[in-house]
Amino acid sequence: MDVGVVGRAVRSGVLDITVYDLRSFTNDVHRTVDDAPYGGGPGMVLKAEPFMKALSHIKSERGVPESVVLLSPQGRQFSQAVVERMSGFKHIVLLCGRYEGVDERVRTNLATEELSIGDYVVSGGELPACVVVDAIARQIPGVVGDADSVVGDSFVRHLLDYPHYTRPESLGVHGVPEVLLSGDHGEIRRWRKRQALKRTLERRPDLVEKLDVNSLDEEEKVILKELRSGIR
Ligand code: SAH
Repeated sequence: MDVGVVGRAVRSGVLDITVYDLRSFTNDVHRTVDDAPYGGGPGMVLKAEPFMKALSHIKSERGVPESVVLLSPQGRQFSQAVVERMSGFKHIVLLCGRYEGVDERVRTNLATEELSIGDYVVSGGELPACVVVDAIARQIPGVVGDADSVVGDSFVRHLLDYPHYTRPESLGVHGVPEVLLSGDHGEIRRWRKRQALKRTLERRPDLVEKLDVNSLDEEEKVILKELRSGIR
């Protein structure tokens, strides 16, 4: 939370992150947050009450959040569309699990949505929460130095980004595409559009399916048609 894009957002005051320790919302001397699962079986389950108390505390301190997200591999897949929706929210609470997971009643009674960062399991919700925070922070105006770089990011328009090159020009066998050195801005723009569309067609045909052709500009529409009919 101190470094990079997120750190900059925090320092500039547009993003405010508070981390709460579930153990502060317990009453026993051991500050117990977990217990064995009803019905038996391996591992421990995070108890519902510390989450309930934590959320009440947050609500009394900062009001009702617009979204209470339970991070879970069983949730809806986190995506750029979700990022865009959430970046309009002023107050989001992220609930992180551990061990075998959390008491199901956290999901049913407290969470307003459940998000997964992908079809794999990590040991706790903290890293997934950082992924969510970072992706949302990028969308806050002024956080990423150059707003154009966010607009061009992969997925923002259901298109992958075009390839990037920087110095040096020669790196053994791999050169920099001539057009990028040509200084011809029209050609460079068209090349980048073609590359973005070509990669998306080749690597992520599923994204092309979702693509709204009307979101493409005239040049892109022509390029897409050419690519589809096999003209390089
Ligand atoms: N037994 C659980 C996984 C527990 S992993 C199950 O199979 O569903 C422990 C915690 O890590 C989870 O409660 C969740 O908060 C977090 N977590 C693990 N993988 C995640 C993922 N892909 N996306 C979001 N959170 C995840």
